[in-house]
Amino acid sequence: MNQTRDIAIDLVPAGAAADEATQAALRESASKTAPSESKTNIFDFDRASLERFFEEELGEKKFRAHQVMKWIHHRYVTDFTEMTDLGKVLRAKLEERAVVHAPQLIFDKESTDGTHKWLLGMDPKNAIETVYIPDKGRGTLCVSSQVGCALNCQFCSTATQGFNRNLSTAEIIGQVWIAARHLGNVPHQQRKLTNVVMMGMGEPLANFDNVVRAMSIMRDDLGYGLANKRVTLSTAGMVPMIDKLGEVSDVSLAVSLHAPNDELRSELVPLNKKYPIAELLESCVRYALRKRGTSVTFEYTLMKGVNDQPQHARELIKLMREFDRRVQMKDAAKVNLIPFNPFPGTRFERPDDETIRGFQKLLNNSGMIAPVRRTRGDDIDAACGQLKGQVMDRTRRQAEFRKRLAQGAGDAAA
Ligand code: SAH
Repeated sequence: MNQTRDIAIDLVPAGAAADEATQAALRESASKTAPSESKTNIFDFDRASLERFFEEELGEKKFRAHQVMKWIHHRYVTDFTEMTDLGKVLRAKLEERAVVHAPQLIFDKESTDGTHKWLLGMDPKNAIETVYIPDKGRGTLCVSSQVGCALNCQFCSTATQGFNRNLSTAEIIGQVWIAARHLGNVPHQQRKLTNVVMMGMGEPLANFDNVVRAMSIMRDDLGYGLANKRVTLSTAGMVPMIDKLGEVSDVSLAVSLHAPNDELRSELVPLNKKYPIAELLESCVRYALRKRGTSVTFEYTLMKGVNDQPQHARELIKLMREFDRRVQMKDAAKVNLIPFNPFPGTRFERPDDETIRGFQKLLNNSGMIAPVRRTRGDDIDAACGQLKGQVMDRTRRQAEFRKRLAQGAGDAAA
């Protein structure tokens, strides 16, 4: 990774015109994106913390917090004066103390296959992407947790951007809010948004508290009412944080495995040097054993000539069988095969279809569930690993973040 180049140039390896426009839009929206610093952003609160805010800061009853959550997440109303079931005095108090501030919509694009991508301004310098993928009977939103990423996985385009900062709870749930509003989603009635995957930019477990709080709003009836298993957190394998997640949350766990042995995995996912496969799988076993019937999804991005050979499939089968045995459940391990999505400057390639099918067949023949994830939103660069927000100002912070990560801090950049 090139950390020393001028960032303004580094930002845009391709499509300079569009990105210049993006930068201009970011500058223009600078004043709009910055919430008033003296005011509290209600988007930062899940139910428990909003109740506390109402009771302790405003001297109000808890149920008022519930009314406000419904206005925001069910009806997309952000102006307190329009929250007509609150008394005038409370509305005035809220206006004085709080705001409901969502990320700034810079642009959105729809793919020919119905996939939708939003570029959202988080602050005057940073933008991230959120992607919606409709499929038979369901709609999945792919949400980002950080601006950029510090993990430096070799095959991921986000890594080429470097890392700038964690997103706040408001910035994470704000992505869901913008997409849900755009889609005309009505929680509990007209569900356009049925699943959320924390698989956008960033490593969600490196931004633990904000991600957990945002996921609690996704699952809350006063928020988006999604069942636990319909909210998935994907991690590159931050072992201590997987255990911590198990203590506070029941969401579905996905793990980016990508290689069946330590030698190869350490090359592709450098975090493996700190948390090798055996340790990683142990933490996944603990996660699955907390609750009967829990499975874990292992993501495996297929790269031509790198990890797509029959011997890799056989090694993978062994690992997954061992996992099932430890959890004492058939299909406790689910493998998700992702054909590599190319991006400018990458040295990796997607295997041909025959190799992909052959790899899948080996897994299937051993009795494993291993769907190949269809590539969606290719034409708008919305596929896995192609997300590319604007990341500025990041080089120094990235070094600092890596250092803290090495020290084992979960909220490394909080
Ligand atoms: N940091 C988290 C979540 C973000 S990545 C994690 O590592 O799990 C979401 C998934 O897309 C991961 O499995 C990631 O490894 C995969 N991915 C990244 N780049 C890709 C690419 N170019 N092609 C295909 N999949 C990719």
